Amino acid sequence: MFEKIVIANRGEIALRILRACREMGIKTVAVHSSADRDLKHVRLADESVCIGPASSALSYLNIPALISAAEVTDAIAIHPGYGFLSENADFAERVEESGFVFIGPKPETIRLMGDKISAIEAMKASGVPCVPGSDGPIDEDDDRTLALAEKIGYPVIIKAAGGGGGRGMRVVHSEAALLNAIAMTKVEAGNAFGNSTVYMEKYLENPRHIEFQMLADTHGNAIYLGERDCSMQRRHQKVIEEAPAPGITHEQRSRMGEVCAEACRRIGYRGVGTFEFLYENGEFYFIEMNTRLQVEHPVTEMVTGVDLVKEQIRIAAGEKLSYKQSDIKINGHAIECRINAEDPDTFMPCPGTIGVYHSPGGPGVRVDSHIYSGYTVPPYYDSMIGKLIAHGDTRASALARMGTALDELIIEGIKTNTPLHRRMVRDAAFIAGGTSIHYLEKKLGMK
Ligand code: ADP
Repeated sequence: MFEKIVIANRGEIALRILRACREMGIKTVAVHSSADRDLKHVRLADESVCIGPASSALSYLNIPALISAAEVTDAIAIHPGYGFLSENADFAERVEESGFVFIGPKPETIRLMGDKISAIEAMKASGVPCVPGSDGPIDEDDDRTLALAEKIGYPVIIKAAGGGGGRGMRVVHSEAALLNAIAMTKVEAGNAFGNSTVYMEKYLENPRHIEFQMLADTHGNAIYLGERDCSMQRRHQKVIEEAPAPGITHEQRSRMGEVCAEACRRIGYRGVGTFEFLYENGEFYFIEMNTRLQVEHPVTEMVTGVDLVKEQIRIAAGEKLSYKQSDIKINGHAIECRINAEDPDTFMPCPGTIGVYHSPGGPGVRVDSHIYSGYTVPPYYDSMIGKLIAHGDTRASALARMGTALDELIIEGIKTNTPLHRRMVRDAAFIAGGTSIHYLEKKLGMK
């Protein structure tokens, strides 16, 4: 096992990784920007290195500084967390070329899945169901493009091959708007992602977002840990997640899980990974694969009892999976609320110093957060300051626990989206389960 790991991230996920390392007897190096000296995991880590100023471009995205930090501390491996450089194939390559272990898939797998067109191609070849679409980039031939959209049927969605974070997409409802929409999406994609390639998919009008959690080792073993429902979204950003997905049967779970596991084996996948699907009228449609740990991984941990971060580290060290598929059982139900430092009405980020902080507890309640009384949330990074997770024997008991936990949660000094979560856990449609990806925005009056 690794003696020492560099945690190339910040906030709650850096703390989550540090906790896993501690339990495994691995020493930790916290790297941080000059604005993040007071982060909880920086204080708890065995060593810490300041890698640059507040701006993430100069610190958390600064590849030479991260490699140097690993060199000066004699670390063996680098854990990228999520966001930042976690899905950057060049970073993974540089880490390995410099003689360190990248805790994630091979650089070529990250590259394959990072381009949504090549990802869809690879998935189709493995028998994963995909959204009907252009099967490749949209070319310059306007007549062919118009005919293709006609065949797929309006509405269609134009998506950037290199897109991410819910950006680089445009829905088109009629032929008259198609060519112009493609031209605009190309320009935007070129500017935002440095790749103007776009493709076309059928726009599903009322789907749910359901994703499968995978684990694959370097010995050819791949298993699924059930699914999560992440349909509660605002601006394509997940707000509440749960496992299992309401209404998904054991048969559906095993069928789709097996398809995803087979795809992992075929592409030589390594580590933790997530297959994201849209689910409509009983059918799954692959949209993308995330080649990293996800924010919402705790709900899967709560229902399976598997520690995904520890397993991820073991896989990177070359160990075999600790579990067989038959060891994985889904126990009860878990829900996660993302707590953001933002105005609950306008959703504007709300950085500042936390005064009184009281975290909830009790049976089945888990808090993954780096905040503490007196901690100042800096304005430079993502506004998520923690995750509240509740587990129960049934979905109803998980919801009841979440309601109680949210009522106990006190964060003074800054605004948070806790009031929104308190409203949502008492919302009749959410309680019924199975709402679509548009539900939250409709409820908020955005649609
Ligand atoms: P990103 O990488 O930016 O997250 P995704 O491909 O995962 O992009 O899509 C993000 C979200 O956009 C989905 O969760 C869904 O809400 C919406 N979306 C993407 N493709 C489609 C589609 N074909 N039909 C309907 N909605 C879609």
